[in-house]
Amino acid sequence: MRVRNVFQQCILCKKEPAISLEHMIPECIGGRLAVSILCTKCNNYLGSTLVNGIRQDPSIRLAVRNLRGEIPELFERVENGQEYYGRDSQGRLGKCTYKDSTFRVKACKDTDGSIWLDTYRGISDIRKILKRDGLTEKQIDEEIRSFVAQENDVEMHLSNSTKVIKRPVCDLFPSLQGFYLDERFAVLLAYEYLSLILGNSIFDGGLDFVRAFIMEGKSSENIIIERLHGHHYGSWHKLYPEFLDEKAVINIRLFEWLCFKVHLKKVSIKGQERVYIEDLKNKKTLFADSLEEAKKNIYYTMY
Ligand SMILES: [Zn+2]
Repeated sequence: MRVRNVFQQCILCKKEPAISLEHMIPECIGGRLAVSILCTKCNNYLGSTLVNGIRQDPSIRLAVRNLRGEIPELFERVENGQEYYGRDSQGRLGKCTYKDSTFRVKACKDTDGSIWLDTYRGISDIRKILKRDGLTEKQIDEEIRSFVAQENDVEMHLSNSTKVIKRPVCDLFPSLQGFYLDERFAVLLAYEYLSLILGNSIFDGGLDFVRAFIMEGKSSENIIIERLHGHHYGSWHKLYPEFLDEKAVINIRLFEWLCFKVHLKKVSIKGQERVYIEDLKNKKTLFADSLEEAKKNIYYTMY
């Protein structure tokens, strides 16, 4: 879904034309609402510094894992190419990659000097090892045939110096080594949504300190970011602002569970407290005119 361009200039640098289409919530986690609010330069910069790493964030990965049954496509999109740990029947840990809906063992050396290989993709490596061990092509073909037919957990000698054991890998779990979402990402999301609500008034509200925080990481006592957690996971994202006296609070909930409250203090901005929802299961972008309307389930879609 695209919203008509209402901005003359980029909402961040205020210099270049706002021609670059930006997803309000990143597309990789199901955001559908796209708006022209940034220039190409700012959009590229934010993509490489704040937004592109979002798929690696452990909170996001755990959320899509929990919601896999409800939103399987999004699980595939976020998890494709990601790293997992798996355990073999002896309790040893190895690394795997989730690719095209399949887990593949990553080739690596274990502490005892043995090598982990994926049973099917590792065959070319086994061939090289057997060639090094001095076997002929014919012998190698025979050994590989016996290896493919071999049962799990049975030791097998392929040559005088190489033995293999096929072990099933189970208890697969995401490695969760990624960085947590940068706080600047939460402020960026908050600021972009404010822009959508305020239109060109976003340039008048004394918000330069917010732009400096997003673009340069320049901290300000007037920005407070609370990171909270909901009670459970849900297949939706939600954003809504609250305009108070000399303060705006932008509420962000990703997968219902991951919540940020971005407080912008000493600002004189007022606008409609419009609620924006990305319904991930039904692939719909919804809006409500206020939190009260949202509570009564009065939403509308915008095209
Ligand atoms: Zn810009």
